Amino acid sequence: MNKVHAGSPCACSIGGSDSGGGAGIQADIKTFSSLGVWGLTVITAVTAQNPKKVLAYWPLPHDAVRMQIEAVVEEYDVKYFKTGMLANGGIIKTVSESLPNDARLVLDPVMISTSGATLLDKNDVSALLENLIPLAYLLTPNLNEAAYITGMDSVKTREEIEKAGQLMLDLGAKAVLVKGGHGEGNYATDILVTDSGLTEFRGRRYPFEVHGTGCCMSAAITSFLASGLKLQEACANAKKFIETAINQGFSGKSNIMSVNPSF
Ligand code: PLP
Repeated sequence: MNKVHAGSPCACSIGGSDSGGGAGIQADIKTFSSLGVWGLTVITAVTAQNPKKVLAYWPLPHDAVRMQIEAVVEEYDVKYFKTGMLANGGIIKTVSESLPNDARLVLDPVMISTSGATLLDKNDVSALLENLIPLAYLLTPNLNEAAYITGMDSVKTREEIEKAGQLMLDLGAKAVLVKGGHGEGNYATDILVTDSGLTEFRGRRYPFEVHGTGCCMSAAITSFLASGLKLQEACANAKKFIETAINQGFSGKSNIMSVNPSF
């Protein structure tokens, strides 16, 4: 039977709702639509938050997560998925069991928000390692997440990033984009590590924290992949898209990312 014609390529975001609209599912839908992609959503948790703090969050029952995935897969022609906040090990396992076999997964291993809230307990990182990282078409950790996943003491220098990237490939991810936004220096350099080598994407480093950049980045990569771009091109275009969104947010012209200079 024919599936629903969405009119544009589909992508599905599996993650948490951010009441402030700056991160999570809301950031993903805004990114999808501004890049011409039909956004499907599977909500894993509801957060009460604004850019400065997460007041509380409530993970959804595993069945709710599983049935949302079943519902979208049944009627939409969707191959590209991204995950964000997964909240706990049970939800991680449910997602890994519910994704279709041919899914191309961009896995953003969300653990701690920029405002400092724990969105995935350290004890649940093992569920990511066991269940979801082996299914990832692309894993997109920041430097801290790369250290948690690999067990390395620190991932900061170029050598450490290369080593962490290789370790994450060994864990089963097909490709890893280690995001350097939380590092030091004038440039925020992201490094794509695949079996065929390394590619660097250099961007400007901003002297302030912007809520939701990780979500928008992984949603933008997923959008470009769903639109038919190759992985390197998708990462390069997404990096440019994020820079533009941050610049526009700073000058009050973005409806994707809000920048709070005092944060
Ligand atoms: N809240 C939700 C629901 C998220 O998915 C994320 C990141 O994925 C965050 C908060 C944290 O975003 P940031 O670290 O950019 O503040």
